[in-house]
Amino acid sequence: MISPGHSWYEATAGKRPQYPALDGDTRCDVVIVGGGFTGLSAAVHLAKAGVDAVLIDANRFGDGASGRNGGQMGTGQRAWPEELEAELGFERSRALFDLAEEAKAHLLEFAETNKIEIDYQAGQISAAHKQRYVRDYRAHADIMAERYGYPHIRFMERDETAAALGTDRYFGAVRDTGTGHIHPLKLVIGTAKAAKKAGARIHEMTPAVAIRRASGKIVVETATGSITADRALLATNAYGGGLEPVSAAHIMPIGSFIGATAPLGKDSPVIPGGEAVDDSRFVVRYFRKSKDGRLLFGGREIYAVTDPKGMADQIRRQIAEVYPGLSDVEITHAWGGYVGITLPRKPFVREVMPGVISAGGYSGHGVMLSNFTGKLFAESVTGNRDRLKLLRELKVPAFPGGSWLRQPLLFLALNWYALRDRI
Ligand SMILES: Cc1cc2nc3c(=O)[nH]c(=O)nc-3n(C[C@H](O)[C@H](O)[C@H](O)COP(=O)(O)OP(=O)(O)OC[C@H]3O[C@@H](n4cnc5c(N)ncnc54)[C@H](O)[C@@H]3O)c2cc1C
Repeated sequence: MISPGHSWYEATAGKRPQYPALDGDTRCDVVIVGGGFTGLSAAVHLAKAGVDAVLIDANRFGDGASGRNGGQMGTGQRAWPEELEAELGFERSRALFDLAEEAKAHLLEFAETNKIEIDYQAGQISAAHKQRYVRDYRAHADIMAERYGYPHIRFMERDETAAALGTDRYFGAVRDTGTGHIHPLKLVIGTAKAAKKAGARIHEMTPAVAIRRASGKIVVETATGSITADRALLATNAYGGGLEPVSAAHIMPIGSFIGATAPLGKDSPVIPGGEAVDDSRFVVRYFRKSKDGRLLFGGREIYAVTDPKGMADQIRRQIAEVYPGLSDVEITHAWGGYVGITLPRKPFVREVMPGVISAGGYSGHGVMLSNFTGKLFAESVTGNRDRLKLLRELKVPAFPGGSWLRQPLLFLALNWYALRDRI
């Protein structure tokens, strides 16, 4: 699966080293398939712990979701802690929240330690696009402070929200000063460099074509050879196709598209505080300003279009719904990628065959979680399995309908939710 369009991130990430394809047969302790955040993070931490790791990616590192996303780190898991609490109880919800807080701290610390400039900007605003969601947002700020001891989220009334976003289209919001947003491709490039420096053997343009067990080992076959290992990590997420059927049954790819506008200018009223924004739509709109003052605006839909002009037109229409004054704005870059979602919007981390862990399905919340899951996988290889276990224990059922029916069923479901967003 190829991600469509040329991203603003590719245009601004600076020098992007190329890594050689793997040719022939090799052996190692751990083989990793997929060079996004999950796989590259696992490779660095394994190599730093002295484990011989080989990583392959079918494309360039970051050409999946990791180098092309909205860059929003968020807080907690994809679902709010109060939602998880209703299902899992306070203790497990709390543990998942703490894990995500650690993931957030880890990302920033990792970038700093490895001298990766990720263009971090602080702040996140989550905004109610309908009056009916305002009560939930207000309660969320209280619950976060009182039950989860997280003091950085504050509710904003409608006027304050309008001033913070530069639009009066929203009815209220919460502002989170304890998180922020990043340039994701710079993190990918820096993580790959760190992995190589630590001794991992990393390869681009090397698709895995099969994975199987043989004589007590795991064998990943490529077009021109194979990798034989004791253990494996499948970090292919939404891009895995049919490589491994259990992962494919649980992680569904959904197209998501982003447009970058020309710089808006110093006097623009759009998000004066520089926060990242997401909203209460099920088909969420997510946007933020880049360091050079562009609006990076994303919406998540299954468009049939993949040509840049078609994408740009769709995105401009969505921008105009939020910022009517930008209905004619120039879109300089438009691109897309595939988000790996699961049915309950929780990460999918599972042993899919003996010795093979599959990790993905962060459901649009993977910027910090995928990086940390890679680290937790490495930890599980070198001895501590407890923290990965927290994710492995999450109940994630397969999508109904098998590989034939699930796409049409999801298409219908998303259209229904998109309709509900509008009423
Ligand atoms: C447009 C968009 C916007 C998003 N916005 C946000 C956001 O703002 N905040 C947030 O938290 N999350 C966001 N996400 C989600 C986030 O990007 C992902 O959760 C995260 O990047 C997942 O990383 P990963 O390493 O698991 O997968 P990926 O980065 O997708 O990596 C998978 C890799 O596997 C490789 N691969 C697949 N099959 C094979 C094979 N057979 N052999 C070898 N290699 C293979 C692919 O080439 C790819 O590089 C967004 C995603 C998209 C697409």
